[in-house]
Amino acid sequence: MKDDFLELLAPALQRLQCGFSGLPEAQLQPPGMTEAAAVLAEAAERLRDNYPYYHPLYAGQMLKPPHPVARAAYALAMLLNPNNHALDGGRASSRMEVEAVRQIAEMFGWREFLGHLTSGGTLANLEALWVAGLTAPGKAVAASEQAHYTHSRISAVLKLPYTSIGTDERGRMDLKALETELASGTVGTVVATLGTTAGGAVDPLDGILSLRERYGFRVHVDAAYGGYFRLVSNLGEEAQRAFDRIGEADSIVVDPHKHGLQPYGCGCVLFRDPGVGRFYKHDSPCTYFTSNELHLGEISLECSRAGASAVALWATERLLPLVRGGAFARGLEQGREAALRLHERVAEEARFVSAPVPELDILVWAVRARTTGESSRRAQEVFDRAAAEGLHLALAQLPARYFPSAGWTDAGADTRVMCLRSVLMKPEHLAWADEIWQRVQRAVAF
Ligand SMILES: *Cc1c(COP(=O)(O)O)cnc(C)c1O
Repeated sequence: MKDDFLELLAPALQRLQCGFSGLPEAQLQPPGMTEAAAVLAEAAERLRDNYPYYHPLYAGQMLKPPHPVARAAYALAMLLNPNNHALDGGRASSRMEVEAVRQIAEMFGWREFLGHLTSGGTLANLEALWVAGLTAPGKAVAASEQAHYTHSRISAVLKLPYTSIGTDERGRMDLKALETELASGTVGTVVATLGTTAGGAVDPLDGILSLRERYGFRVHVDAAYGGYFRLVSNLGEEAQRAFDRIGEADSIVVDPHKHGLQPYGCGCVLFRDPGVGRFYKHDSPCTYFTSNELHLGEISLECSRAGASAVALWATERLLPLVRGGAFARGLEQGREAALRLHERVAEEARFVSAPVPELDILVWAVRARTTGESSRRAQEVFDRAAAEGLHLALAQLPARYFPSAGWTDAGADTRVMCLRSVLMKPEHLAWADEIWQRVQRAVAF
C-alpha cells in the first residue's frame, strides 16, 4: 500500500519547528530513545493482529481510514500536543476547531449556533440530551428501537425517563407509535436517527417535525453516522426528505471519526440556539483565562480535549470542503452506489434474502433457510468463509420482520435473526464491488 503520510508530514513538521527557532537550545531528549525503535517494532508486530481496515476488502463494520492529510495534521500537532480546553492550552488549534465546526454547521444551513468537538458520538449525544433534559426537566427521551443503545444508557445516566419507539419494516421510527407516546404528554425530546448504526435507516424527520408542531417537543438528530450524507445527491426520495429538514432540529450530532475521514476521538455536537451556552456555566479556579475570546472549555462538558483532533479536521475540510458536488461528497456517493449495486446482486441470488433497498451505504441481508435459527447459523458460516476468502463482512442481529420475503416458518413478531452486514463506506468500495461479490458467492457455495 502506498502511504503519503510521511511525505506530507516531514516538511510540515520542519516548518512548524522553525516557528519556535528563537528559543535557546534545550536538551529535550526523553530517556529511552535508543530502545524506542525496538519497542515500536514490537508494537508494529502486535498491530498485525487486526483486520485490514484500510483495505476495500474490509467491508464489515464502520471503519474508514483517516485521510493522509488528517493523519499528518494530527501528528504535526503532536509536536505541541495542544489542549483545546482553554485558549492558553491551544490558541491556534482552538481557532481551527471553531472554523472546522462552523463548516459542519454550515453544511446543515446553520450560521448562528453553538457547537464544538467531542471525543466521540457518545459524549456528543450526552451533551445534547443533557441540554434537552435541562430544557424539559423530568420529561422522557423517545428514540426508535433501532437508535444507538447509547441513548437509553445516557438517559439513565442523566436520570431522564426513556421510551423506545417501534420501527417499520425498514428499521425507521414508526410515526403512529410515536404519536401514541406523544399523546400521553410525557415526552420532552424525540431523538431522530439519520442513519441507524445497524442498517443505515433514516428516521422520517419530516414527519417527526410535523408532530412537533402539534405536540411541542425538542428534536435531537443523531446523525453520528449519517450526517455527512447531507451533501450527497443520490439518496432515495424519503431519506432525502429527512436530510432536507435536518436544519430544523434543535441539536445535531455528527461524528467526523465515522464518515469524516478523521482519526478516532472526533465527534461533534451542535445546538441551533446559541443561548444553551448558559447551561455550561462554570466557575473553575484553574481554567486560567488570558483572553476575552470564547473558550471552548466554557461550552463543553469535557475539559481537556485533543487540539490535534481539531487540527486534523480543519486540514481535511480545507482540502476537501464540505460542499455538494465536491470530492468529499463524491466519495460518499460512491459508497452508496456500491451498496445499491451489491443490493441488486443479493436480490438476484436465490441463496440470499435481501432486505429493502439500503437508505445509505449499509447493506444487510440474510441467508435463505427454512427457519431463522438455520438462517442465523448459515450467516455465521458465510461470515467465516468470506473471511477465509480475504473478505471481511460483519454480522448483525435484526428483527426477522425486516425480511418480509424470507418465509421463515418460525418467525414471530419479536423473532430476531443473525444476518450479514456490510458497511460500504470507503469510496474504493465501488471499484471493488464486483470483486467483493465474487468472494461473497464463493463463501456461500456450500
Ligand atoms: C457510532 C454512533 C454513536 C456512538 O458514537 P461513538 O463515536 O461511537 O461514541 C451514536 N449514534 C449513532 C447513530 C452512531 O452511529
